[in-house]
Amino acid sequence: MAEERRDRRRDNRNPRESRYGRKREEPEPKPWVPKTKIGKLVKEGKEKDIDKVIKEYKILEPEIIDNLIEVKSDLLSIGQSKGKFGGGKRRVWRQTQRKTAEGNVPTFACLSVVGDENGHVGMGYGKAKETPPAREKSLRNAKLNVFAVKRGCASFDCSCNEFHSIPMKVEGKCGSVRIILIPAPQGTGLVIGDECKKILRLAGIKDIYSKRFGQSRTTINYAKACIDALKKLK
Ligand SMILES: [Zn+2]
Repeated sequence: MAEERRDRRRDNRNPRESRYGRKREEPEPKPWVPKTKIGKLVKEGKEKDIDKVIKEYKILEPEIIDNLIEVKSDLLSIGQSKGKFGGGKRRVWRQTQRKTAEGNVPTFACLSVVGDENGHVGMGYGKAKETPPAREKSLRNAKLNVFAVKRGCASFDCSCNEFHSIPMKVEGKCGSVRIILIPAPQGTGLVIGDECKKILRLAGIKDIYSKRFGQSRTTINYAKACIDALKKLK
């Protein structure tokens, strides 16, 4: 029992390598058995158009997205480090605590973004008592929330027909955070906060200007406002 517990702790510390530096064997991933109608269609290869699937069906299995697009993911820094020297450094995990008679019970949460860098993006939140399951849950939720982003070029000093920016000026909101996304000419880059940069990069947008108002250091609201704005492009 004690042995097993020690093993598990070692797993948490370094999932890829054992203590002796050897690569440990990854557990075989189970084959996907689809449960929903659209899941079966995708597995059989009868449905290949991601836009059609997103538009016509409600996605309840994250594997559908895995099969349709090449998923890339990123974690947003929603938390801060604890402990010495004041803490407060930006971290991917948001650590919160519940007080009980036995002591404090920590909970970890994280916010991940998935996308194919070609007009599809999704964001999901997940929390658990440990960090790896929190990440898995958030990834799963992010895949279920994938939507299509309408891209285009509408900047006043760029008249190409490529999908490098957005077709119009949009505004998004979450909590007190308000964000305005403005089309930009080619070569501008992403003129926006770091966390939203991750979202737009995964969505496949290369050039943008932005403005933000409110308590935008609340990263969760900042990211949600960005997603809200992207959804309004439709
Ligand atoms: Zn352009």
